[in-house]
Amino acid sequence: MTSWRGAAGTAVEPPPAAWDGAWTEEGAAAAGALESATAEEVVAWALERFAGRLALVTSLQAGGIVLLDLVRRLGGEPRVLTLDTGRLPAETYDLVERVREHFGVEVEMISPRAADVERMVARGGPNLFYRSPEARSECCRVRKVEPLRRALRPFAAWMGGLRRGQSEARAATPKVAPDPLDDASAAPRLKISPLADWSEAQVWEHVRRRRLPYHPLYDRGYLSIGCAPCTRPARPLEHPRDGRWWWEADGGRECGLHVLNGHDGPHGNGSGS
Ligand code: SF4
Repeated sequence: MTSWRGAAGTAVEPPPAAWDGAWTEEGAAAAGALESATAEEVVAWALERFAGRLALVTSLQAGGIVLLDLVRRLGGEPRVLTLDTGRLPAETYDLVERVREHFGVEVEMISPRAADVERMVARGGPNLFYRSPEARSECCRVRKVEPLRRALRPFAAWMGGLRRGQSEARAATPKVAPDPLDDASAAPRLKISPLADWSEAQVWEHVRRRRLPYHPLYDRGYLSIGCAPCTRPARPLEHPRDGRWWWEADGGRECGLHVLNGHDGPHGNGSGS
């Protein structure tokens, strides 16, 4: 295993083999050094350290596409996962086809358990999420959180396009940290966010310069894109994530996939997208 050199020019030894995703002092030290690394350096480190045990999880928003581009330019071939909640806009499925073709990758579409969805819909109706924050959390848990938790069990680490500038709840996103989705039935796992310190403008500059495929709903005024019934275009002066679950007066604008320290942040409802 070669040593990794951070942006500040400091040599950082990769975590010991016994680390395997567990959050040890050695792992914390390496993660600390990676905080000042560039996105490419974090991706290169992750590809080397977790070869064969790394997943790239993307909802196919612009940040996830940029991350996939960085990975492919570095010759990485991690498994690419996306959540098929069953309520995605048709344009998202079209984008999956374009992404497969552009990057030459397989995109694994992770579905919720049919029995869980059937039970939830029988009890609460197909649009239960409009009824209360609790019902919305239940839908996100069944359609997103539990399927991703299950899909990630074989992996030692996963990375995604999370950025600190996306919301107050994401402002403290570390580049490398223990995965808050970890559960007792799985080996400890890391969550890696190489774009944590990128701005929205940087993401779009990269998309345009590299002529990457992007979600067509961005051109129709959407700033953040999730399930069709829970996403609308942004209004003037709205925060990018205000188009998500807009009917919730004080919602956390999160679905539970990126819970930090057990909550979603100051406006969190514990559920979390
Ligand atoms: Fe359900 Fe809406 Fe959450 Fe999608 S975003 S899982 S439809 S509540």
